Amino acid sequence: MPSSQPVTTPITRLTAKKRPAVRYAILLLALFCTLLVAAQAWNAWTARQSRLAEHAAATSNMAGALAAQAESAIRIVDTVLSSVVEHVEHDGLAPASAERLRQHMRQMVASTEELHGLFVYGADGSWRVTSLDRAVDGNNADREYFQYHLNNEGRGVHIGTPIRSRSSGEWVLPISRRLEHADGSFAGVALGTIRLDYFADLYDSFDVGREGVILLALDNATMVYRRPFNEKLIGSNIAAGPIFQLYRTRGPVGTEMLRSKVDGVVRLYSYRHLGDLPLIVATAQSKQDILAEWQKSTLLMSAVTVVVVLLLVGVGMRLVRQIIIRDELEHELLIAKEHLQDRNRELTVLATNDGLTGIANRRHLEDTLRLELNRAARSGEPVSMILMDVDFFKKYNDRYGHVAGDDCLRQVAAALRNGLGRPTDLAARYGGEEFAVVLPGTGQVGARYVAERLRLAIMDLGVAHADNPPGVATISAGVCTLHATPAATGDPEAFVRQADALLYRAKATGRNRVCSDLDQTDAAPAPSLAI
Ligand code: GH3
Ligand code: MG
Ligand code: MG
Repeated sequence: MPSSQPVTTPITRLTAKKRPAVRYAILLLALFCTLLVAAQAWNAWTARQSRLAEHAAATSNMAGALAAQAESAIRIVDTVLSSVVEHVEHDGLAPASAERLRQHMRQMVASTEELHGLFVYGADGSWRVTSLDRAVDGNNADREYFQYHLNNEGRGVHIGTPIRSRSSGEWVLPISRRLEHADGSFAGVALGTIRLDYFADLYDSFDVGREGVILLALDNATMVYRRPFNEKLIGSNIAAGPIFQLYRTRGPVGTEMLRSKVDGVVRLYSYRHLGDLPLIVATAQSKQDILAEWQKSTLLMSAVTVVVVLLLVGVGMRLVRQIIIRDELEHELLIAKEHLQDRNRELTVLATNDGLTGIANRRHLEDTLRLELNRAARSGEPVSMILMDVDFFKKYNDRYGHVAGDDCLRQVAAALRNGLGRPTDLAARYGGEEFAVVLPGTGQVGARYVAERLRLAIMDLGVAHADNPPGVATISAGVCTLHATPAATGDPEAFVRQADALLYRAKATGRNRVCSDLDQTDAAPAPSLAI
């Protein structure tokens, strides 16, 4: 039988470990955001690399084109110069020949865009023939190219340091050849000049960005022309600059990202040596300019990614919060349900059990009796009932007090409960110091036997009762058995009344005994066997 103790179910706490859905949602969210950021970073990185590679190819191509162009300009001038040398050395510079040469030179300068002027100097440096309109006297023995040819017997073309023209005041690149007498002695210099503006016009047509540079230099590191133009730099030595550092290590062609020593700007440099001419053309574009577009689009895409990630995190966290709330609600509902079930169980126990003794109460007894009588009517099996009453219990209370009386009743109840063998047997407190036992499927003999066994069990408790002749607490019992049929279902109340009458007889005939309907025919009930 259930005890009267409240029945509670242990309530489990809802920890994060018990929320796999939340964990998976957070993990999935983190993974998705990481993937998104990683994809954007990868995309930006590859875009940057391909942009740098594209520009490396473009600057290299530009250097190649500029080198080819500069070379062809110089070759054209040199071809003209060669014809001048030929004329001077074969025809001499007698007045008629000189005039013819002057006409030829003027015609050449007029028809050759690259050519600024043509000059023939004597062995002393004096101006002999020029392509100028007017006859001008002068001496160029001090010029670098003159000194070069004076001191070098080589007949090849010489490209000199840029100079400001004495005839026009413009910056020009001198291209010269040595003149010789028939005996090989120095006869002077033939000079052709190219306006630096020619290069300026050409270089200005290329877009190399705000901080880009295009330059033409002699391969001895003497600056010829630089865009952006700075007059002070013409003729300066740029051996320590990044281009010549590269040139020295890489050879005639190269491309590299380097930091300029002049302005600290990082540029993508590309240079090319002009075949057998002692010139180098270089282009450089600042890294900042190259990556400006990329930076803009990367910034935009990063901002979009950040917004998407924030939205995802926002929506994800909302989802996670909802999952948590749902879990908590479910958990609370579960707890409430468990509480309710506990309360229901307690109520059931309270409704069916006796508060003092813990065994079934009278209501439970009556329900069981009704049920068993119906069942017996269907099955045809007998049902027996024992009604018991503690002997002289009023006196017990009077002598030992009510608290002891209650304790005695609890002991009697426990003895009854423990004394029943079948799970279908039911012991109940009928009221006061009266108890009842229902024995389904038990006939008269068996019921009497059980009653006697219970009577002895209670006596065996040895609860001292000085006002009871045996000296210990005893019970008197009335036992009756019903054989119900479907036509005549037993009446529970009549059944109890019958048991009560037998109990009364047990009392009347001396107490501490069992009276059964087996004894009905007897004139007097048989005294209990154990006494
Ligand atoms: P009898 O042998 O004829 O049964 O005599 P009796 O004194 O037992 O009978 P009676 O009906 O006169 O007295 C029953 C007493 O049982 C009265 C009451 O004080 C006591 N009683 C009934 N219910 C309880 C209870 O719950 N606790 C206690 N301590 N006593 C109870
Ligand atoms: Mg009584
Ligand atoms: Mg009594």
